[in-house]
Amino acid sequence: MCIFCKIVNKEIPSNLVLEDDDFYAFHDINPKAPVHILVIPKVHVDSFNEISSELMGKMTPFIQRVATHVGIEKSGYRVITNIGDDGGQEVKHLHFHVLGGAKLTWSHFTDADPKDYL
Ligand code: AMP
Ligand code: ZN
Repeated sequence: MCIFCKIVNKEIPSNLVLEDDDFYAFHDINPKAPVHILVIPKVHVDSFNEISSELMGKMTPFIQRVATHVGIEKSGYRVITNIGDDGGQEVKHLHFHVLGGAKLTWSHFTDADPKDYL
């Protein structure tokens, strides 16, 4: 069983933010912003590549609820999901990072020169 499935099953402790029947939101253990929450489906899905439109359709309002719950829906925030090796996905259970609580920077993502790929 993967680490995030263990968190859903309460076999590993986590700092819960919000949950419903389908989704679980908890604080990232290594925050990269004042607010850094991970939102995951309770059912194991490897990555964004595999999520059904039906589950994604429910996940969208849940992520919006999380943002409202922690009071960043008006100040703004960023939603990121890393996919696979190039995306930098370390945990192979779909998760959306919800980042906010301060003005976020937008820096380069790769040492490769994007112009080389045009
Ligand atoms: P990613 O690189 O997109 O797969 O992100 C994985 C995220 O999971 C990282 O930001 C980690 O800090 C976070 N993480 C890993 N283990 C835990 C844990 N037990 N509790 C909370 N966050 C975790
Ligand atoms: Zn899992």
